[in-house]
Order: sequence, then structure tokens, then C-alpha cells
Amino acid sequence: PKLVTVDELPKASFAREALLQLARLEIQEQKPRINLVVIGHVDAGKSTLMGRLLYDLGKIDEKTRLNTVRASEKSGKGSFSWAWELDGTVEERQRGITMDIALQDLSTTHRNITILDAPGHRDFIPNMISGAFQADCALLVVDSSTGEFEAGFDKGGQTKEHLLLVRSLGVSQVIVAVNKLDLVDWKVDRYEKIVSDLRGFLTQAGFPSSRTNFVPVSAIGGTNLIATSNNPLSLRDWYNGPSLIDLLDQLETPPRSLELPLRIPISNVFKGQMGSASGLAVTGRVCSGIVQVGERLRILPGNETTTVRSIEQEGSVLCLPSELVPLASKFSAQVIIFDISLPITPGAPVEMFYHSRDVPATITRLLATLDRGSSTIVKNNPRVLLKHTSAKVEIAIRNTLGSSGFSIPVEPFRVNKELGRLVLRRGGETIAAGMILLA
Ligand code: GDP
Repeated sequence: PKLVTVDELPKASFAREALLQLARLEIQEQKPRINLVVIGHVDAGKSTLMGRLLYDLGKIDEKTRLNTVRASEKSGKGSFSWAWELDGTVEERQRGITMDIALQDLSTTHRNITILDAPGHRDFIPNMISGAFQADCALLVVDSSTGEFEAGFDKGGQTKEHLLLVRSLGVSQVIVAVNKLDLVDWKVDRYEKIVSDLRGFLTQAGFPSSRTNFVPVSAIGGTNLIATSNNPLSLRDWYNGPSLIDLLDQLETPPRSLELPLRIPISNVFKGQMGSASGLAVTGRVCSGIVQVGERLRILPGNETTTVRSIEQEGSVLCLPSELVPLASKFSAQVIIFDISLPITPGAPVEMFYHSRDVPATITRLLATLDRGSSTIVKNNPRVLLKHTSAKVEIAIRNTLGSSGFSIPVEPFRVNKELGRLVLRRGGETIAAGMILLA
């Protein structure tokens, strides 16, 4: 997150057009940046794969690795030694699970990639959501060993649920690392069976096949992650395609959002830390647009322009006074329904996660059910929504403040990818995720 000081700003130095041009030049000199979310069933090897990749790229030095191997062995979790690098907190280490989104950067020849490491455990879905919200692409790790791929892919497994979640948040690019092939002696039959099962599901879930890639790997052995020269003969016999890093290097870059209006959802407010008593700093991700010191910003909802002392709630959005973010209390959205225990009926109360905030909301109308792949209408005005369906719904924000006209900043997904994503939860269960269509 960038820190923006919004109180008592000096005068802006550049006209908007000159500022844009400067920013374009600066960006041209950099490699395109891609946010990658790592998904997959628990124990598929996500942390091991990322740990190994970062180590082989020289992002983790040998001393750190040996120290963590030792610490890992001491706690009786020797097999987690690679995962250790990413699994930060003591609690995670004891549980042997990656809990938080660990941010790591890696650089390939043509790309800078930020890894949003998503956890695989069921309880941690909310953490994964915050990672997926920022993702341009997903790296799916599957365990190819006997019975394990099936456990993660069939009912109860997280492979499909994670894929549906990222797809419904607008991510359409996916790399599948078919992991632990060392455990099945690099058998081509096993690899092809997994690829074919996944291909079927990916197409059904709406991932275009041209943006879907598969790669056979062993995370623990570091096989086919970077160099292909050390690949065992049993793999070379049938595979001479790209390594994982080659695929990462070819990822399509997201469109630039510089030209779009300035949008900064505020995630944190710090008071009195800017040297003067009236100083106030806010943090928030610049989702689109560009801002310079000295510009006057509006904070929506509300009427504030410079008096930022009144921002008390996360979820407000900073924007230029000339291009305000739309506010709405009711809007339509396209969502995918997850593996829910109870069907959804009109009037269902939900909790809506939306960039940095969550608000109480109601699914007021069920507008249509849609074909999951093509998004064409299957049925208008359905009475209920069942699990695994795709649907168009109307959502209203519930007014918990008591004042009339309560609304939140919303922008359709097609206008702003990051501001246009939402996730719906009910009673601690993620029930749906999708995109805002119209405010
Ligand atoms: P995560 O829950 O997806 O992050 O999975 P981890 O990275 O913690 O790995 C789960 C287990 O699988 C650990 O015991 C790893 O050592 C093991 N593992 C991961 N990758 C491989 C692999 O390529 N081959 C083998 N044999 N074991 C692996």
C-alpha cells in the first residue's frame, strides 16, 4: 500500500496530462508487474513449491535455509523445511499450514511477479479471498500422487472451489503445476489423466483453454521449476515443454489502469503521525489512476475534500473531484454459487466483502441463472439458487447506520477490475463470489 498524505498538501506541480506522460515513460522502463495467487488443496505442495522456487532463484540464502531446516526438524516437521520459508508465524509453523498471505516478489526475464501465497486450509478462505482480489493470474498446485489428486479434486477437496473462486473474481489465466510426480515415477499416464480431468473442469468453469497451461513438476526436488537440463530421463522421455518459470515469464500482462480515474480504497488511517497535530495519513492501494502531491481529493461517501479527520471507516475511496466514483446502495452482480448447504432465496441476508471492507447486505432479487461457461441466460427470475450455479442477482446494502441514503462506492467490473469484485458470505461460509455489473 502507498502512503498518501491528504492534509495541507502543497500545490500540485504537474498538469494531469504531463503527469500521465511522465508515468507512462517510467512504466515503459520497467518490466510488467503481475500479481499471482497460489491456490490448491491443502498439502498439494504450494508452500514447498514457492519456497523452492524462491531459493533456486537466489531469493533465499543458504544460511537462512539451513537455519530453517534445523528449526523445522526440531519441531518435528522436517518435511516442511521448504515451506518454512514462507510460513511466517509461530502459529503457522506449529500447525504446519500457511495462514496468511505471504507476499514475495520474484523476477523472471520479462516479468516482475508478486506472489500472493494463498493458504489451503478451509478455515482460511477469507485470507485467500483478499489474495484473490488482487490477482491477475492463478497458479494451481495439484498433488499427483495416488489417490491424492482425487481427494483434492472431488467432493470436499478445495481444488474446484479455489478455481471457481478466482474465476468468479475475474481471473481467467491459470498455470497448473502437476506436483509430486516423483511419487508416481514420472508416469506420463498419470500426468495426462490429471490434465484431462482438470481441462474438462476448467473449460466448464469458464477458463479459456488458450490461457490455461500445465507443467509437470516436483517441488521438493526442484524438478522442472527453472532449468530443464536436470530433468530425470523418465520425464524427458515424454516432456520437452517449458519449465514453470518459462510459463511465468510468458504470462499475459494486465491492462494498465493509469488512464482510468483515480481510485484509492482506504484501508488504514493514521492520526497525528505526520509531525503536526492535525496531520493525517491514510493507506490504500491505488487501484487505478495516478495521484501527485498537492492534489485535492474527495473522499466518498461523504462531502469531504480536504478535512480528512472525518474518515473513520475503512472502505472509503479517494478520487479526484472531477471524476467521482459512483455511489450506490443497490446494484446487480454476476456471481458463482459455491458448495452451499442451503439454497439461496430472495431476501437472503449476507455479508459482502468488497475491496478492503465488508458490509451487511441482502440479496434482494434473483434475476437469472446463467450458463457457467458462456454467461448466457438459462432461466429468468429463478425462485432459488442452488449450489454450483452461476447467476445474476440484485444486491442491496443494508443500512446499519440508521441514516437514510446509505451507499457505498461501487464500480462495474468491466470499468475497474479491482473495485468490481465481490465475495458473499453467510454464517462464516463463503457462498458466492463474482463481479459487479451495474451500479
Ligand atoms: P501446502 O499445504 O500446499 O502448502 O503443502 P506443503 O508445501 O506444506 O507440502 C505438503 C507436503 O508435501 C510436505 O510434507 C512436503 O514436503 C510434501 N511435498 C511437497 N512437494 C512435494 C514433491 O514434489 N514431492 C514429494 N515427494 N513431496 C512433496
